[in-house]
Amino acid sequence: MKGIYVLVIRIRRNTRITVGALGEFAFPAGLYAYVGSAQNNLDLRVKRHIGKEKRLFWHIDYLLSNEAAKVINAYYVYGDKEEECRIAHLMEKNAEPFTGFGCSDCNCTSHLFHAVDFSFLGKFMQPLTMQNLSAELSQTLIEMKTTLKASKIRRDAQFIE
Ligand SMILES: [Zn+2]
Repeated sequence: MKGIYVLVIRIRRNTRITVGALGEFAFPAGLYAYVGSAQNNLDLRVKRHIGKEKRLFWHIDYLLSNEAAKVINAYYVYGDKEEECRIAHLMEKNAEPFTGFGCSDCNCTSHLFHAVDFSFLGKFMQPLTMQNLSAELSQTLIEMKTTLKASKIRRDAQFIE
């Protein structure tokens, strides 16, 4: 299973977090969204992000290992690494980028965004509910994959609206 995921994260109070080599940043309380891709085992990757106990490797690990941060929603779309950055660019039109976050290996401004509402993600991605992020996740993703073939064609047109 491969594809692009977006994690919607709530930070419940103003928090300072050291993000690896990027340094320490103030994260105002509110909603954030992180764009990532997993070219295999996407379900395991999403589960890893949700878990608190892990080796800190990606920028997002530093954010999500903080007790004030919680993944509250997730979205999925089929695609490769190029699609990941395309989604990140679409996000920039709807949300405020957190410069330099999660984009060490590409030319994007950021892969982390801040906004009051991320429901616009539903226009070009499929929601992954928290209930799905369990044993049923794999099956859900397989079902999504078939429906996505149709929705992918419509996606660009929808987003322009
Ligand atoms: Zn990128």
